[in-house]
Amino acid sequence: MADCLFCKIAAGEIPGDIVYQDQDVVAFNDIHPQAPHHILIIPRAHIASMAELKPEHGDILMKVFTVANQLARDLKLDSGYRFVTNIGPDAGQSVNHLHFHLLGGRQFGWPPG
Ligand code: 5GP
Ligand code: ZN
Repeated sequence: MADCLFCKIAAGEIPGDIVYQDQDVVAFNDIHPQAPHHILIIPRAHIASMAELKPEHGDILMKVFTVANQLARDLKLDSGYRFVTNIGPDAGQSVNHLHFHLLGGRQFGWPPG
């Protein structure tokens, strides 16, 4: 999608601190980290949010989860981490391209506020 920040990062048009990428999935460090490890994991395909998911996105979603599991293992987040997606304004979604926050390296309260 032409005007989407995360499409541009995935395409290499805007610099991103990319930690993993393949043909379907890109993972990069959040520009404003909320934890010692804060990685955004996205499908390359432009999907606005979880609310827009369709059955045909199943494979790509599984790939996103598999990448998250691998990154968490690589980072040795053995004592736990958060894996979060925000949907819509009440949740604070600020970029309308489906993304999952992998947050680790500290303890989290619930709810975070
Ligand atoms: P949301 O609030 O939509 O769930 O999360 C969007 C995230 O994208 C925020 O945590 C924000 O810090 C991050 N972000 C916004 N702009 C950029 C950017 O240009 N580069 C990177 N790496 N992260 C960004
Ligand atoms: Zn996009």
